[in-house]
Amino acid sequence: MQTVETFRDLQGEVTEWRRYLHENPELDFQEHNTAKFVAEKLASFGINHIETGIAETGIVALIQGEGGDGPTIGLRADMDALPIVEASNKPWSSRNPGVMHACGHDGHTAMLLGAAKYLAATRKFKGSVALIFQPAEEPEFPTGGYKMVQEGIMDRFGISQVYGMHTAPGIEIGKFAICDGPIMGSQDDFDLVVKGKGGHACAPHRTVDPVVIAAQIILGLQTLVSRQTDPTAALVISVTKLKAAQAYNVIPDQVEIGGTVRTLAPALRDFAEKEILACAQGIARGFGADVEFRYLRSVPPTVNNTEETNLSVQAALSLVGAESVDDKMRPRIGAEDFSYMLEARPGAFIFLGNGQTASVHHPAFDFDDEALPYGIGYWVNLVETVLPA
Ligand SMILES: [Zn+2]
Ligand SMILES: [Zn+2]
Repeated sequence: MQTVETFRDLQGEVTEWRRYLHENPELDFQEHNTAKFVAEKLASFGINHIETGIAETGIVALIQGEGGDGPTIGLRADMDALPIVEASNKPWSSRNPGVMHACGHDGHTAMLLGAAKYLAATRKFKGSVALIFQPAEEPEFPTGGYKMVQEGIMDRFGISQVYGMHTAPGIEIGKFAICDGPIMGSQDDFDLVVKGKGGHACAPHRTVDPVVIAAQIILGLQTLVSRQTDPTAALVISVTKLKAAQAYNVIPDQVEIGGTVRTLAPALRDFAEKEILACAQGIARGFGADVEFRYLRSVPPTVNNTEETNLSVQAALSLVGAESVDDKMRPRIGAEDFSYMLEARPGAFIFLGNGQTASVHHPAFDFDDEALPYGIGYWVNLVETVLPA
């Protein structure tokens, strides 16, 4: 196993790649230049099995170890940026106005390339490594991770385990955090239309006022979490959209409500879908109105498997030592589409400290390049841990 010093030699070169990617961000499923950059780099490392155009702009490349036959494990990086106007003031700020790498996916791509360069040169493992560069982690369903799984990458490349990593501002550089079981939440969204009967605002008695009914529904939804869910289970139901009339003197025919549902437990998604409708319908019908309801299932919870979590912890420990690995972190409720790969194969997702930078998705965020050798080292040690030669 290597210590992080081994990967400092790569840091300068990988920093250049990271900053190039940061300057040239691309939105979901439009990562054409990024994919071209990745494929060219992989080829320059002497990797000859590279498949492009998976899920539009995704790439899978295979490196065979020199340690004999063995399984194939997948290492995944995401390549997409966000529709945000950058305010980091770095010399390598986005040259694509309104698009920026605010979630560190430039760092993820650069680190997996760095690991690929090292692994292609050393090959001290058995079996094979499948490098998965996926598009479109950020958007609504269907995301890039979902599409790559749908396009059959697990079977096509014989992948038996998958591993993912995400940068984590707020955790010190050189530290890792992970937990067994659910580590990130799901994301579902919903739309409710309250259908009443509009009219003049001076004569509400001749209407079925959907504004008042919508207000009751919004309050009613608060009780699904506070009064109907086990207090130790994580569930968030947030109403975020509300659209009624555009005039002071009009009671509209209908009010549109929208919101999001986040949870760590797959069963609570079914609960939310059923109970949001039941609550809204019960309230609306009580006042002589009705509702239309749409529940949009998006990203499932990211759930780590025990055996692969232990292997990830071992890999991180071998790189940075016990005091720098938190193996019992509290799960985060944000969503991550690596979950689709974990639904397809066992694996684990880990957080890599990025120091005290702005939070991800903030216009001032910039991946701290000091974290690069730790991310590269984690990938390499993971391969040599899971596939010992
Ligand atoms: Zn993100
Ligand atoms: Zn991200």
